[in-house]
Amino acid sequence: MSVKRDEGLIVCENLVRIYRTEGVEVQALQGLDLAVARGEMVAVIGASGSGKSTLLGILSGQDVPTAGSAEVAGHDLLTMKRRDRLAYRRGTVGFVWQQTSRNLLPYLTAAENVMLPMTYAGVKRSQRRARAAELLDLMGIGHCADRGPGELSGGEQQRVAIAVANANRPLVLFADEPTGQLDSDTGRAIMHLLRAVVHSEGVTALVATHDPQLMELADRVLDLKDGRITTGE
Ligand code: ADP
Ligand code: MG
Repeated sequence: MSVKRDEGLIVCENLVRIYRTEGVEVQALQGLDLAVARGEMVAVIGASGSGKSTLLGILSGQDVPTAGSAEVAGHDLLTMKRRDRLAYRRGTVGFVWQQTSRNLLPYLTAAENVMLPMTYAGVKRSQRRARAAELLDLMGIGHCADRGPGELSGGEQQRVAIAVANANRPLVLFADEPTGQLDSDTGRAIMHLLRAVVHSEGVTALVATHDPQLMELADRVLDLKDGRITTGE
């Protein structure tokens, strides 16, 4: 499927990200064009170093591109001010990292982890509880609500992480190799759950992955090579 640029929830044109460290330049993104429609689940594939994490970092507001344009739901990611960027990261997007330990605070229970982003957003306590219970049930781990991350398997931790990322009803969900630390059966289950969340929450998702069997669940596969998309656009 090809998405018209003026219909895209996510639109990048000629996006460039150059890293400069100790006089050495790395062109992580070299003029990338991309358009993703609302409600799409897109898999981003490509060899290690092809720019997947750089792209997700920019679109989620954690990193700023060097040149080109990148817009998500009308937010201009090049010119966005600091305060708007923080609100964007907390409210407009959700993020799931590969490292299970990076997604959750170790001293909070699963339910408390899911409620935390809602606390920042000023959601009332009763609503936070209800939303956390709803999301943990959706992820099939309602019974783990009062356990800490240390009492959960890697797959259970990633389920909680997906619940955390969706707590504030984001428009876009980003996941950077979310199954990279899991065995293949657990990874497949997590990808099916991501798919289910995209449907039930109406969220748009960009998932970086290496796993060919997981790509089948996506609506579209974008293949990154040297910081550009080679197929799928
Ligand atoms: P992928 O996620 O596909 O493995 P990355 O986006 O992490 O790719 O990296 C793309 C390129 O940018 C690689 O050459 C990588 O070494 C480089 N790179 C990524 N992050 C940094 C950084 N913070 N500083 C310097 N170079 C970086
Ligand atoms: Mg990466």
